[in-house]
Amino acid sequence: MQAPIDSLPRLKPRLYSIASSQLAVGEQVELCVGVVRDDRRGQIRYGVASGHLAFRALAANPLRAEVEPSYFRLPADPATPVVMIGPGTGIAPFRAFLQHRAALGLAGRTWLFFGNPNRATDFLFGEEIEAWRAAGVLSRLSLAWSRDGSSKTYVQHRMREESAELWRWLE
Ligand SMILES: Cc1cc2nc3c(=O)[nH]c(=O)nc-3n(C[C@H](O)[C@H](O)[C@H](O)COP(=O)(O)OP(=O)(O)OC[C@H]3O[C@@H](n4cnc5c(N)ncnc54)[C@H](O)[C@@H]3O)c2cc1C
Repeated sequence: MQAPIDSLPRLKPRLYSIASSQLAVGEQVELCVGVVRDDRRGQIRYGVASGHLAFRALAANPLRAEVEPSYFRLPADPATPVVMIGPGTGIAPFRAFLQHRAALGLAGRTWLFFGNPNRATDFLFGEEIEAWRAAGVLSRLSLAWSRDGSSKTYVQHRMREESAELWRWLE
């Protein structure tokens, strides 16, 4: 008789966006992973893959990884304006885009919307982003912190506030 464990499906792969440019990091790949955590009546469970990446020593517990080709990439013409909306770990591919443009020395119209609960603890890649803003790699930056003020502000609120300018960029 087949053991019950054998009848379970294999673990599904988890996808992570590459958060780095080869022009900056060579043959490495950098990821931006949020640890999934669930508290049910005091029993804490972590996501299988994000918990593994966060808490296990990878040298002793290696993971098998594959690169799935993506068609989500920067416009071919570097002069094309780019609007990037990446709250939370959604920043990952846009950090790669900005790192890539910085490595190529490109300035131009690039606009990033980023948000998370608290600026002090959750501004992912904050120092890099501010340096790119100062250097002109990023020409416009709109930030939303949902737990810093009395009203919850998310990136969609910033987009609405700046909708006239955003529309001009889209056109
Ligand atoms: C195209 C794409 C790109 C992505 N890019 C990124 C990225 O750049 N960064 C990033 O952080 N994520 C990204 N993700 C999400 C990522 O793929 C995973 O879904 C995420 O990390 C959670 O996987 P996990 O294995 O940690 O959690 P899982 O183990 O899959 O858990 C998912 C949910 O199930 C609950 N759960 C797990 N085990 C149990 C249990 N035994 N009992 C009850 N509940 C349980 C967990 O608490 C959680 O709520 C991306 C997804 C896609 C589709």
